[in-house]
Amino acid sequence: MLNIVLFGAPGAGKGTQAAKLVEKYNLVHLSTGDMLRDEIARCTHHGLIAQQLINNGQLAPDSMVVEMIAEKIKTHKASEGFIFDGFPRTIPQAKMLDSMLPEHGLRITGMIALSAPEDELVHRLLCRGKCSGRADDQNEEIIRNRIAVYHEKTAPLIEYYAAQGKHLSTKGVGSIDEIFHNLCAAIEKLRQVCCA
Ligand code: ADP
Repeated sequence: MLNIVLFGAPGAGKGTQAAKLVEKYNLVHLSTGDMLRDEIARCTHHGLIAQQLINNGQLAPDSMVVEMIAEKIKTHKASEGFIFDGFPRTIPQAKMLDSMLPEHGLRITGMIALSAPEDELVHRLLCRGKCSGRADDQNEEIIRNRIAVYHEKTAPLIEYYAAQGKHLSTKGVGSIDEIFHNLCAAIEKLRQVCCA
């Protein structure tokens, strides 16, 4: 089993790289951003709560995203592993994930952080906003707020996984293939450590 937390600020390229990793390693892609957008599109109870928060650049409630992830893990029990994309995003989410996984005989293999300078992140998100129509990608103030939320609530996860000896970092700038190559090298490293 290979269970990777793909980590990085908004716009770091997690979704793009997750799609390639899923194909190469035959994993299930669990993106809480995609799940929340799906809830919003279906006007569910979760969707109604999440919509306003997301459009303002705030995080959805921890209990909501953890519940969604738990459901998906149950549904895909027989898979070869998971790529967690955009989850966990807070320390409470990471703790809940760590306590939930052993119930399914799973553990996190490691966390890989994609790093990119802030101006590059803002530029990428504004470009994505033009193509995707995503409301949270269209306004620079909201984007800067998301990055501030990332620094305050999400970045502490680096220390959390480092304390477990499970954190690696790789450059999120360069060609998509170059970044992918470096990510695969990081995965091999994590595998060696976890299987040693
Ligand atoms: P990005 O590419 O900006 O990282 P995502 O698609 O991962 O975007 O997430 C979009 C929005 O959905 C986030 O800004 C946040 O409001 C919400 N969201 C996604 N994942 C989580 C999570 N794990 N916890 C709380 N909110 C989340």
